[in-house]
Amino acid sequence: MKPFVYHNPTRLYFGEGSLQHLGREAAKYGKSVLLVYGGGSIKRNGLYDEVLRLLEKTGTKVIELAGVEPNPRLSTVHRGADLIRENGIDWVLAVGGGSTLDCAKAIVAAAKYEGSFWDIVTRKAAVESALPLGTILTLAATGSEMNANSVITNEETLEKHGWASPHVYPAFSILEPLYTASAPKDHTVYGMVDMMAHVFEQYFHHDNRTPVQDGFSESILRAVVEAAPKLVNDLTNVELRETILYSGTMALNGTLSMGIVGDWANHDMEHAISAVYDIPHGGGLAILFPNWMTYVLDDNVARFRQFAVNVFGIQADGRSDREIAEAGIQALRDFWNSIGAPSRLADYDIDDSRLEEMAEKAVGDGTRGNFRKLTKQDVVNIYRLSL
Ligand code: NAP
Ligand code: FE
Repeated sequence: MKPFVYHNPTRLYFGEGSLQHLGREAAKYGKSVLLVYGGGSIKRNGLYDEVLRLLEKTGTKVIELAGVEPNPRLSTVHRGADLIRENGIDWVLAVGGGSTLDCAKAIVAAAKYEGSFWDIVTRKAAVESALPLGTILTLAATGSEMNANSVITNEETLEKHGWASPHVYPAFSILEPLYTASAPKDHTVYGMVDMMAHVFEQYFHHDNRTPVQDGFSESILRAVVEAAPKLVNDLTNVELRETILYSGTMALNGTLSMGIVGDWANHDMEHAISAVYDIPHGGGLAILFPNWMTYVLDDNVARFRQFAVNVFGIQADGRSDREIAEAGIQALRDFWNSIGAPSRLADYDIDDSRLEEMAEKAVGDGTRGNFRKLTKQDVVNIYRLSL
């Protein structure tokens, strides 16, 4: 293990009835709030009305920023920051999926920064302060509800990058499984792929002294593998939604990364694809991850063998370690296919015409990842395996 400091300041309200805590939280952060949400799913499932009713009770003045895009855009961040400055708003409440939460994180920081927020995303400037942020999550996927990360797309340059700052941890996050039950099958699947991918990014490393972290990771993966096939056939099952919702939060709230160095190359490779083609994040990850696994398998066969045995229950049956490891990767492909995730770039009509350009965006002028440090050529090779 590497030495580490752990501090996660987000107050998490989880489970049935949690929304009722909104009033008490709202009272802490001031008299006016910017309510940030996406394309309208919260109006259709009743959450919007309930949130407004609870905010009204506290006398909070509500200004709205609606229409945050999946893969949230820089211009929307600036629109939100302008609304805050023009109206003297005290705090921000994000209600929606990871895109809405990520956009709100950028907005609370952009409101305190004079220049283009892209300076922050590209690390030309650092966040020095931010408005308080609360969130109500409606899609189990990103972990954004309990981490300091956000991913923003610059729609002019077709770049998509993650950034992070301890100033943008949500002060509180409310997670009621019921409000995730209206998520359609495709986004439910993308979300489950994304949370599994977050575990993978932290599980595939070369440190053998992490048995506790390994066990946490494997138990999240097993829970998702067990619940996902049932959930895709029973989308309104709140018990299954609860398991998945908790899995998504635990996959990326810092618990799994204590003492380890994560990889994150697949996220960088996926962001480059969705920057250019605007595809769903989880869909891109489902296509890339098994191919990355095959590509880097020989760097640490033992790790992939452990994954195969402990997550998918692959039996040795007289096979070599490498064959067992390969069977684990195949089990992952079969599992994602079985729940309806995409498996080829062709599923999104993506051909080989822009692979170099995407690899350039993914790698910049260095390498990406730690399990194996991928060069631009490696990334092109993995994209090619994914066509
Ligand atoms: P999302 O983009 O927030 O939402 C996808 C779709 O699901 C939207 O159309 C949304 O509709 C709909 N939706 C959400 N909740 C719903 C519900 N309860 N009922 C019906 N429809 C619902 O999806 P996401 O996967 O959570 O977020 C993806 C973004 O997060 C990507 O940009 C990705 O790169 C980023 N990401 C962030 C982190 C992080 O740590 N911060 C980690 C991984 C990925 P509406 O717009 O109408 O609400
Ligand atoms: Fe992700």
